Amino acid sequence: MVNYKDLGLVNTREMFAKAIKGGYAIPAFNFNNMEQLQAIVKAAAETKSPVILQVSKGARNYANGTLLRYLAEGAVAYAKELGWEKPQIVLHLDHGDSFETCKSCIDSGFSSVMIDGSALPYEENIALTKKVVDYAHQFDVTVEAELGVLAGVEDEVASEESHYTKPEEVIDFSTRTGCDSLAISIGTSHGAYKFKPEQCTRDPKTGRLVPPPLAFDVLDAVMEKLPGFPIVLHGSSSVPQEYVDMINQYGGKLPDAVGIPEEQLRKAAKSAVCKINIDSDSRLAFTAAVRKVLAEKPAEFDPRKYCGPARDLMEELYKHKIINVLGSDGKA
Ligand SMILES: [Zn+2]
Repeated sequence: MVNYKDLGLVNTREMFAKAIKGGYAIPAFNFNNMEQLQAIVKAAAETKSPVILQVSKGARNYANGTLLRYLAEGAVAYAKELGWEKPQIVLHLDHGDSFETCKSCIDSGFSSVMIDGSALPYEENIALTKKVVDYAHQFDVTVEAELGVLAGVEDEVASEESHYTKPEEVIDFSTRTGCDSLAISIGTSHGAYKFKPEQCTRDPKTGRLVPPPLAFDVLDAVMEKLPGFPIVLHGSSSVPQEYVDMINQYGGKLPDAVGIPEEQLRKAAKSAVCKINIDSDSRLAFTAAVRKVLAEKPAEFDPRKYCGPARDLMEELYKHKIINVLGSDGKA
């Protein structure tokens, strides 16, 4: 049994309360490897932004859960080395799918977990979430739950269509489960293909897809039911077209990849939305940088020569999100 406090990590409680009051959101960045983690920690340390390091089931399968946990512990030490005296770093399980997975993360030093019972019938979602909350709170670990279903594909979480969160359920759900934050569905979506072309319009000038707007009426209704309660948005990558273009220019094939426009996320960050999940954008940045190096220098075979530029591009992306979209810079 390892407690996150001994690793120098923090939970989300105080962080979220401050973010709601201050009208900004905390970035939740997924990581699967060292370069990604270096980029996240450097971006957070240099902008003095609180940050949530997210580990998905796919990441645990890819990189090994134990190793990822030690990487996160190293992240705290690295942040201090970068001059961030009291790093505000959360280690969070993304889309926990069972009590056992959540428990094993809590027992091994995670400071926050998500239990995703959103695919279950309502009462079963409540029962499972409450079981995780009861366990987690003994160790002061915070719990994110989910109501409503997001469309898209993210690791092993996939759904054909989305179902908006029903605002009439949120009071009952949060009271009976005791969860600390709630992920809701208002039209964000997992992956780099968030919308089918037929859901979008096309910009006549650029020929690019313009996605449908988020359902801010649903968000407003949720906030009215639960004033000051921390709300989470999943699937909030913007799919920067410069990275999509770079990938396509250097031999990739990502037709019509489209994300959530940043101005909509900026608007959400000012509300009770206090955690915004961004994963696909860093995957795109990584891939774009690697493709460019390998296309321009076909003789290159030192992974540091293409993973290094990938790391730099991700760091730039994370800083941009922190400063220009979420507004969390200078808050830690
Ligand atoms: Zn998600």
